[in-house]
Amino acid sequence: MRHLYLDGAWRPSTSGESIDVINPATEELIDRVPAGTPADVEVAVAAAREAFPSWSATAPAERGRILAAAAGLIRERSDQIARIIATDMGAPYGVAMRVQTLMPAGVLASYAQLAETYDFEGGRVGNSRVLREPVGVVAAITPWNYPLHQVVCKVGAALAAGCTVVLKPSEVAPLAAFALAGIFDEVGLPAGVFNMLSGHGPVVGEALVTHPEVDMVSFTGSTGAGRRVASLAAETIKRVALELGGKSASLVLPDADLPAAAKATVANAFLNSGQTCSAWTRMIVHRDQYDEVVRLVVEAARKYTVGDPFDEATRLGPLVSAAQRDRVIRYINRGQEEGARLVAGGTDRPLERGFYVEPTVFAGVEPGMVIEQEEIFGPVLTIIPYTRGEDEAVAIANGTPYGLAGAVWAGGEQRAVEVARRLRTGQVAINGGQFNPRAPFGGYKQSGLGRELGEFGLEEYLEIKAIQL
Ligand code: NAD
Repeated sequence: MRHLYLDGAWRPSTSGESIDVINPATEELIDRVPAGTPADVEVAVAAAREAFPSWSATAPAERGRILAAAAGLIRERSDQIARIIATDMGAPYGVAMRVQTLMPAGVLASYAQLAETYDFEGGRVGNSRVLREPVGVVAAITPWNYPLHQVVCKVGAALAAGCTVVLKPSEVAPLAAFALAGIFDEVGLPAGVFNMLSGHGPVVGEALVTHPEVDMVSFTGSTGAGRRVASLAAETIKRVALELGGKSASLVLPDADLPAAAKATVANAFLNSGQTCSAWTRMIVHRDQYDEVVRLVVEAARKYTVGDPFDEATRLGPLVSAAQRDRVIRYINRGQEEGARLVAGGTDRPLERGFYVEPTVFAGVEPGMVIEQEEIFGPVLTIIPYTRGEDEAVAIANGTPYGLAGAVWAGGEQRAVEVARRLRTGQVAINGGQFNPRAPFGGYKQSGLGRELGEFGLEEYLEIKAIQL
């Protein structure tokens, strides 16, 4: 069994118990990681606390140099890391490489650069100097769907800011986090600055969230677990950043480029087998263009070949686990019971082995249906008609408890931006605008609190001090 990374060394967990790591394409056991304990958490937090004074006083440019070296090693080992992610999480190798490995390498490099360029010292208000100081010991708790990217979004920002970190990656697909811990060790991050322990959320996660020596919790995961984290953290008045679920809309105005909207919405909804928090899973289309869009979407969805993550023809890998596959199948059944029309995919098993689900599209979806309201987290796209004007389309887009991302498709950019302003959501792509890994990312409403990425992401990990002169 593997060891935990605590206080600058690989150490066995005090529990001796392990968690199986399963390859979702083959259903085979591929590894075992320790089920960490509250006693392991004590060691990790004590190490992070001990390392804080010296790391927070290290020149930001030096912090940046170490992070840049780590980003360089991720790039250098991108093939190995992408293979790890394709194997324990199931993303097709190309996605595992481009989105799951090279993107986080870029994000880490951007934090390395920000550590050098950000003005930690410079603010002035009248007779006060305003300093920005690291918040302290950060507990980072991450999900399995982007197992390196979600980690780097938090750890890169926290370390650049001068915080020390205890990471608890997801117990599902944890191996990329182990690879990253090895890289941090190799580039000479001082002992205790970064610690990593695997384990179950209610055990290790809650021990971190309630620990009086942890100053901030940065959590990415489901809204239910996020709610629990926020309420537990309130006891010790910790700062809490939450990146939670989503049910984002792709809103198509009548004069939009329909083929472009259909193709990009399907690609976005099915990326990573639909296991993406910001996925556009609700396509909102005027009744007059509805049949045409459904036809285009079904045509695009049929091109999503399901298969082995290492097969070049594969565009849709398995879901991460049997539990996730079963959950998605339950939602597909539910959609049919609610009266939505299945126009692609369904509940058939596309392959004998592996946790696969067909690329699935529902038409005739009404606002308020369960499949229109709840995050399914699988390759399931819903298409919702509107009959009146833009106001109705915007109301449907805003009509869930979530507000993470979205898209607007329209003939003119200015009109699309006006609609984007009306969406209660943290990001909006106009006519296929590309994802920007330095732009602030995060949710309105129950999609979360705070922002990740770029300067806004860095600032989540900073306290503000005013010194009167
Ligand atoms: P999850 O909530 O089950 O688990 C996320 C992490 O929290 C894991 O490390 C887990 O062990 C831990 N955890 C679970 N219960 C906990 C508790 N009581 N206390 C402390 N930690 C606990 O989520 P998941 O299934 O791993 O990931 C899927 C969810 O994550 C989806 O809802 C998705 O939308 C969301 N997500 C959001 C973003 C975003 O940026 N908004 C990004 C990726 C994923």
